[in-house]
Amino acid sequence: MSINLQQVPAVDVHCHPFVAPEKPHTVESFLNTLSLSVIPDMFTKQDISENGIVPGMNMYLQLTIRRLAQFFQCEPHIEAVVEARNQHAEDYANYTQSLYQDANIAGMIVDYGYPVPHIPKADFEQTAGFHTFEIYRIEPVMEHYGAQCKTFTEFKQAYYDDLLQTLQRPDVVGLKSIIAYRSGLEVLPKDEDKAADAYATFRDNTRAAVKPLRDYCMHLAMEACTETNKVMHIHTGVGDGEVVLPKASPSLLIDMLRTPKYSQTKVHFVHGGYPWMEEAAFITSILPNVYMDISLQIPFAGHGAKRILSTVFEFAPFDKVMFGSDCFSAPEMNWLAAKLFRQDLTEVLETWVERDYMDEHMAQEIGEMVLYRNFERVYQDAIVACSDA
Ligand SMILES: [Zn+2]
Repeated sequence: MSINLQQVPAVDVHCHPFVAPEKPHTVESFLNTLSLSVIPDMFTKQDISENGIVPGMNMYLQLTIRRLAQFFQCEPHIEAVVEARNQHAEDYANYTQSLYQDANIAGMIVDYGYPVPHIPKADFEQTAGFHTFEIYRIEPVMEHYGAQCKTFTEFKQAYYDDLLQTLQRPDVVGLKSIIAYRSGLEVLPKDEDKAADAYATFRDNTRAAVKPLRDYCMHLAMEACTETNKVMHIHTGVGDGEVVLPKASPSLLIDMLRTPKYSQTKVHFVHGGYPWMEEAAFITSILPNVYMDISLQIPFAGHGAKRILSTVFEFAPFDKVMFGSDCFSAPEMNWLAAKLFRQDLTEVLETWVERDYMDEHMAQEIGEMVLYRNFERVYQDAIVACSDA
């Protein structure tokens, strides 16, 4: 079988910036940094078993430790790995870039809206070793103008102008919403009166659900992307510990996405809706301008990567799915994601060839599409629109 994705570059279409830790990691602080838990004492216990099992540890963390031990050529035990990591990470940019070279990561779309306080783009690019594309998160923009504008009329104008102006920037390829962390994905039609009524509550508490206002602001973001030919990213499925999980399924978006005025708007489901990836995949199969990545599920679902890739392609067209990691705190996240992704995608493609669903040339091409070519095609217009600005 000649499917080989090792030399194929990967573009990470969804991740966040990070900075070097202030001091060397302990076992607990390293696991906390790698974890999706936002509960500070998730890994406080010191009782590590002889085999390196820490309370709360899961397959994703174990895979990280095991693969890092290979990378550092040290014992595959968590304590040895953390010690080796502390040594390698003394020059953090050098360490990060060596991981990215090892995983052949060639580019990124970065959401600089998280973590807070924001990490300057120039700082992160120095760590990563290349220029990044940016998506611009709408919720901090809402909060910014919520603090400044006394009336809803002032707010909506300032917010929309800001989005349009930012989308003119050469490095910004789209907007992103985390409405799944606030009022949920069932975005209703624009109702200006109800949005205006909710504005005072939002000004008192910028984390309040204020659904009519958030739905209204989502529509303005969709309109701004439509007008500028940029891409709307929407968080779908699980996330960190604060997500409103019962309202995070991508199927809840379907009425908004079927609205005729958005038929030309490119929408990118971030995290592919996990654990509802079948729903996300189905939607990409019926709506021509909706795409998905498999960030967060890979690497955080550990050995689930193969099952996820196979499941997503039950419905998703080959040209609609992209690689992503949701790396948010340490370079090991993009690195492990790219390694798992290539390895498990290769296995899935080989199965398709074995079963004579396709020949190996086609399987190889699909692997390359998912790793970087779909990114190039989907974002072509957004990048051209950028360089015209
Ligand atoms: Zn993210």
